Parts: sequence; C-alpha cells; structure tokens
Amino acid sequence: MKQDQDLSETRPLSRRFGLLSAFLAAVLLCALAVLVWWAVQRIDGMTQAEQSRALTSGLMLEQTSLVTEQRRATTLDAAVLNLRANDQSWIAENLAERMSEFYDLDRVYVVAPDGAVIRAANQGQFAGTQLDPRDLVAVEAMLAETQAGLAAASATMSNLADTVSDLGHADLARLQDNSLAFISVQPVLGKSGVATVRPGTEYFHVSLRVLNDRLLASLAERYRLADLKIAVRSSNSAALALRNSMGHQLGYLTWTPNRPALTLLRATAPATIAILCLVAAALVGLLGWLRRAASQLEASRAETSFLAFHDPLTGLANRVLFQANLEEALGYQYLAATKVALISIDIDRFKEVNDTLGHAAGDQLLQQVAKRFALALSEGATLTRLAGDEFAIVQPGIVSDGHARWLCQSILQSLKEPFALTGGSVHVTGSFGVALEPGSAVTSQEMLRRADVALYAAKAAGRNCFEIYTPEMDRLRREKRMLEVELRDALITGVGLFLVYQPIFDAASGEIAGAEALVRWMHPTRGYLSPDHFVAIAEETGVIDQLGLWVLDEASRFAVGSGLPRIAVNVSPLQFLDDQFVDRVLHTIARRGLNAAALELEITEGLLLKNSEQVQRALVQLREAGVRIALDDFGTGYSSISYLRSYNVDKLKIDQSFTRTMVHDEATQTIVRSVIQMAHALGMSVTAEGVEEDAQRQILRDLGCNGLQGYLLSRPLTGEALIELLANGHPDRAPARTPTAVSVAVGD
Ligand code: C2E
Ligand code: MG
Ligand code: MG
Repeated sequence: MKQDQDLSETRPLSRRFGLLSAFLAAVLLCALAVLVWWAVQRIDGMTQAEQSRALTSGLMLEQTSLVTEQRRATTLDAAVLNLRANDQSWIAENLAERMSEFYDLDRVYVVAPDGAVIRAANQGQFAGTQLDPRDLVAVEAMLAETQAGLAAASATMSNLADTVSDLGHADLARLQDNSLAFISVQPVLGKSGVATVRPGTEYFHVSLRVLNDRLLASLAERYRLADLKIAVRSSNSAALALRNSMGHQLGYLTWTPNRPALTLLRATAPATIAILCLVAAALVGLLGWLRRAASQLEASRAETSFLAFHDPLTGLANRVLFQANLEEALGYQYLAATKVALISIDIDRFKEVNDTLGHAAGDQLLQQVAKRFALALSEGATLTRLAGDEFAIVQPGIVSDGHARWLCQSILQSLKEPFALTGGSVHVTGSFGVALEPGSAVTSQEMLRRADVALYAAKAAGRNCFEIYTPEMDRLRREKRMLEVELRDALITGVGLFLVYQPIFDAASGEIAGAEALVRWMHPTRGYLSPDHFVAIAEETGVIDQLGLWVLDEASRFAVGSGLPRIAVNVSPLQFLDDQFVDRVLHTIARRGLNAAALELEITEGLLLKNSEQVQRALVQLREAGVRIALDDFGTGYSSISYLRSYNVDKLKIDQSFTRTMVHDEATQTIVRSVIQMAHALGMSVTAEGVEEDAQRQILRDLGCNGLQGYLLSRPLTGEALIELLANGHPDRAPARTPTAVSVAVGD
C-alpha cells in the first residue's frame, strides 16, 4: 500500500554532522600535537645551539689562556738573559717545570734558536732535553711556522721585542697518539730592550695542553654538558666540529644535549595525556550531545514532515497526501488505460460506539478499522482518513466494474469480525461510495464529489453496502434539493401543504375515538406527493422540525375546531434532537387551546432504541404534561418488552403488515394476541392499523384490541369530510362505513 510517500526530502543530518565533527576533532588534535612537537624541537634546538656557542668560547678561552700564560713568562728581559746564560735552574723555576705545574700544562719545551730542546717538562716534572715522541711532528711544524713568521717580520725591524705581540703561534693539533692538544709556540723576546734579540737568535717557549679526559671533565662541568667526549665523527647527539687555524677538521666534541622542553614534556606527559583525554572525552561528549541534538532535530523534522502528510491517530495518509496521490493516480491512468477507483467510506453506527463506549474506544475502533482496510488493499492503493469516521481509498489499476465490486466486497468483508475495544466488543458495518473513472476524464475534486454522491446513495439504500456512482444519482440529488427548496417555500407560504385525518375507532363501541393527522403535499408541478416521499427529504435536510411543528399546529387547530376527542400526530425521531422540542409542542397546543390530554404523539421504535437520556427526558416531560405517547408501526422494528417497560408508553399501534397476514396465518395471529395481552398487562391500549377486511376487524375485536384504523372503517379524510362523519356518527351506523362510502378520502 502506498502510505509513506513523503513529499519532502529528508537527509541524515545528524550522520553528516557526526562525521564532520569527528573529522574536525581529529584534525584539531593532530594540529595540536604537531604544534607541541614543533615547539619542543625548537626550544631544544635553541638550547643546543646555546650549548654549542658556550663550548666554542670555552675552547677559545683554553687556547687564549695558553698564550696569555706563556707571554707573561716569556716577555721578560731576564728570560732572554738567563736562557742565553743557560741557567737551567732559573729555566726550571720560571719557564719549564714550575710553569707546567702552575698552569697545569701537560708539556712544556724550552727551545734554543737552533731548534735544540734545552729543557722539557711533563706535568710539572723535568722531562729531559727532547721533544716527547707524541709531540714531535706537531711541535716541530709549529716551530718552523713560527720561525718563518719571525723571519718575515725581522726584515722590517731590528729588535723583535718592539713588536712582540703577534709573533707567536697557537693552534689545535693532532698528536702522534691521536689525541688533540692546544699547542702554543712563543718566542722569548724580553720587554724593555735591555736584552736585544736579533732576528734568528730567539729562544722559543712551547706550551701544550692536551684535550684529555681531565680537561673535558672540567669543560663539561663548566658548561653543564653531559657525556662530553671527543669523537672521530658526529653522532645523533650534539656535536661541535674541531678545526685548526687552517680549517682542517680534526674531530668532534660530542655530548648528550640538554632537552629541557622534551624533559618538561616527558615530566608533564601523564598530566598532559590525562588532560587531553579529558578534553577528548569532553569533546566526544559535546559531539555526542550535538549529535543527539541534531538527531532530535532530525526526528522532529521527520515527525513534522510525517504529521504534515499523515493522520496522527491512524498513521494513514492525510488529505494533502491523499489528494497528491489521487492526482498522480489520475495522471498515470491516462496512460495506463485502466480506471481509478475512489472509494468514500463511512463507518455505520460509529457515533453510537462513541456515545456508548466513549471516545477512547471510538479512537481504538478507527485504528483497528484502518489496519483491516490496509490489509484488504492491494499494491498502489492509498488509504486515508479524511475526518471522523470518514475513510477514503484511491485504487488505481481497476480493469472493470466487476473488479471494483470485488474490491469493495472484500473491504466490507474485512469489517465482519467483531472489534475488541476497551469496554466491549462491537460489530460495525460500512457504507461505501465508489467513483470509477478512467483518469483523463475528471478532476480529483469531481472524483471526490462523485464518490460522496455514491456514498449518499449507499446510506439511503440502508447502509452496509456500496454503490457505484451513476449520473442518475446526481439527477436524484438535484431533484431532492429542488424538493427541499420547494418544501421550505410551501412551509413559508402555506400553499400546497395540508392535512388529512384518518379516524381511529373504538373497537368495542365503533365510536370515533380520535383521528391521526397525515400530511399531504399538492405540489404545483408534480401533483400529489405522499409523505413517504417528502418526509424523508425533510428529515435529511433538517426541514422536519419546521414541518413537524406546522403539522402539530394545523392538527391542533383542527382538533379544537372540530371537537375531535383526540388527535394523533406523527413525530419524526429527528425532532427529538431539538432540546426545545417539548417546549415547542406544549407551547403550540397551548396557543391553539388544545388540551394536552387530547394530543397523542406517534413515535417509532427507532427513537426508543436510541436510548438517549435526552429522548427519555422529553418523553417523561410530555407524559407528565398529559400528552399521550403511542408507539407506531409496532412489530416492524426491534420490539423489545424491556424498553416498553422503561418508557411506559400509553399505546401500541400494531403495524398493518400484522393486520394483513393475521387472518390467514396462525402464527401472526398468536403474536398479535400476545402483543395485546402484554400491552394490557403493562397498562397500554392497542390500536390495529390497516384494517381493510371485516374478518380482520372481527378477530381484532375478539382479541381485545382497543382501537381500529383502516380503509375498512375510513380512509384518511379532509377536515370537512371528517367533521361531516363526526356529525353523522360512527361508520357502523353512518353511510361512511365502507371505504367506498368515505369517498372524500384524499391521497390514498
Ligand atoms: P403511519 O403513521 O403508519 O400512517 C399510516 C399510513 O397507513 C398512512 O399512510 C395511511 O394512509 C395508511 N393507511 C391507513 N389505513 C390503511 C389501510 O387500511 N391500508 C393501507 N394500505 N394503508 C393504510 P400515509 O399517509 O401515506 O403516511 C405514511 C407514513 O408517513 C405514516 O405512517 C407516517 O409514518 C408518515 N407521516 C404521515 N404524516 C406525517 C407527519 O405529519 N409527520 C411525520 N413525521 N410523518 C408523517
Ligand atoms: Mg402514524
Ligand atoms: Mg403506522
């Protein structure tokens, strides 16, 4: 069944939102991690560069201090003189052992102008007159370099001491044992010119400080460098290239760099991770909340959209969706060469269920009916609840009238089983109106109208059935509508409507006990119309209240004027729906001066069956005012003794169908007998209607029937004819005793 077609498009908003949020959160976290890592690297890189710079200046300081210490000892005239004098003890005390010890120099050499070592010291100890084999190559090379430098300088000056400052040479060098050392070679030049040193006569002082573990340890401590050592090549850790003055790389100083940021990161890692987890959890919570909010929004959007196109009670398509589907079906049928059936359905007796079992049960019934209908339908059908108990179905693809009938029959059939509701189980039936059209011919509005016309015909045909629309139905409706207008007109102008009176005779005495007022309409163009024809129209159109009062008024006027002992007036059950009904009746007869006891209202069993409080109250009020109540056409309806007792009516009128068959049918006669007995037992009188034969009159008299009414005794008469009859006496004595004798009868 085509129920859920939605005219609006829905997308999984929350899903898209969720994915987008998760992606954004991931990107955010990654960006944060990259940023932190970048900052850590940068801070640690800066720290390492700072350490490198400090170490570089530390090394330079080592080299410069070596030179400064040497100059302090060699820029002395005494040094020149004592060297020339080869005063070994002075040399030991001032330039060799003592100096080596004092300045913590690894090795010291005092070299004569000819290059011979005149005294060597090794870590404060005398070490002979030779270069240590480890130092040999490096020291000799530097001595040669210094001598060459001096020779060049001496070309321009006679006393080298004058420009003493830059004639020495200091550098970093690799020794024979592969260790590295700062070596400084300084010429001993004196100071004040007392001891003149001519070029080529200079003594040299060589200081040598090895980059050994001790020195490294002191550098490491001074500059807070961990694992400082000399390496041939750089490793992953921090490294500083060691080059001599020529720029040759001699090795590396490596150390484990300080990484304060990383250390901080590590130290704070658990807390950071915990915070990140919390942030992530908060983020996830927030996203979850947003997602839920989004899905709630989505759900409410879907619900709004569902409600826009569906009936909240049954979940069926509503009028808007139904109309859209109907139009679509009609458009499609145009091509499909089949017909579209539009079935308009009314649940019979729905109001009764609502009134007796309550609205909740009424709602349950509608829901269950909707389910059963849905099951009975085939693919492509749209079922809707238009309002209250009105359902409608669009079924495309109908191939013939027979197909449509079969469909209606199966839907009717689905109602057959009782419905279990709170408060009891009920049986309901339905009335169906069907419009069956090939799509192109009519609009959806016209289809709906035709289905309603057919539904109206189904209701008129007694409900629990279906009718297929025919143009004849429209004609009948138009005619009814015209009659309604004309009837209203007649009630206003008083032209055409009149009453006839059928006398009711006392069965025992034959006297006229009263008369029943029967309405007639002499229509200007259609001629005489029977009440069977137009009373129903008056009931359908609501004109019945006006008509009923008009009849009562006219009948009262006649009764008072004619001196009739009792006047009976027929009342439609619909008149009782007016809560002013009793007042209107009493007011009307009072206005005409009719005694309430002279009025008998004929009601039908259908009214009593309604069992409504309003009806009961009205009947009690009327009887208390003195008005008699007669139950008309008794035996044709649901005749139940229990409601007769509870309503306690004054009279039963046995329907003419009983009177007719009674003579030849024992069973009917038995029923009539027991009805009369029962009525008498309940204190009611009985009148038999439709007495046409003498045999009927005889039997009814014998059974104890109180009143007789029928053509045998008198047809309905005009007012004047009845007055004449009253004057002449009862039919047993008067000429109007046979039907032919009362020839003034009108309308039968
Ligand atoms: P009813 O109240 O049962 O009226 C009796 C009907 O039986 C009358 O038909 C009457 O002419 C007819 N009739 C009487 N004796 C005989 C007989 O021996 N044989 C046959 N075959 N028929 C007999 P009428 O006047 O056509 O009325 C038909 C129904 O229309 C009435 O049935 C009543 O229900 C209704 N009706 C008539 N006048 C009024 C009225 O003013 N108000 C309302 N609400 N209904 C009325
Ligand atoms: Mg009647
Ligand atoms: Mg009757």
